Amino acid sequence: MELYVKPVIEIDINQVKYFVGKDLKKLKKEMEELRLKVKKATGYTWDNSHFRLTIHNKPVMNIAFYTTQISIYNHKTGDHIGDFNKNFTMIDATVLKDWALQLEKGLQRCLICGAWVKEGKGYSYAGFACNECYDPGVHLPPDPS
Ligand SMILES: [Zn+2]
Repeated sequence: MELYVKPVIEIDINQVKYFVGKDLKKLKKEMEELRLKVKKATGYTWDNSHFRLTIHNKPVMNIAFYTTQISIYNHKTGDHIGDFNKNFTMIDATVLKDWALQLEKGLQRCLICGAWVKEGKGYSYAGFACNECYDPGVHLPPDPS
């Protein structure tokens, strides 16, 4: 019997400054190389992104690197929080840290107005809207499949 493990790569929120000024294509390549090293070391059949952003050693966001954007998801709920579509700046690093602090408080980000709220509703795939923005005619429920 082989020991089956699932590796994750955790990046502390204070480390995201490392992304600043990097070309997104290069950053994706670098993160991909890191992922492949971990995959090889653990023998995990790993092709998806298992990158987490942590604050005070607790994972709060999942982060996916693409050649044209960085996508951020709520670690707890899986909801999409936002994307960074240009090369990452120091302002972006500050925004991410703010998001980490809000998530740590148990709040969720409305994908429409950007407000951090305690309650709201999920819609379509990984969407989340606050009660003020939620429109049942527009925001269809999450696909149950
Ligand atoms: Zn809203």
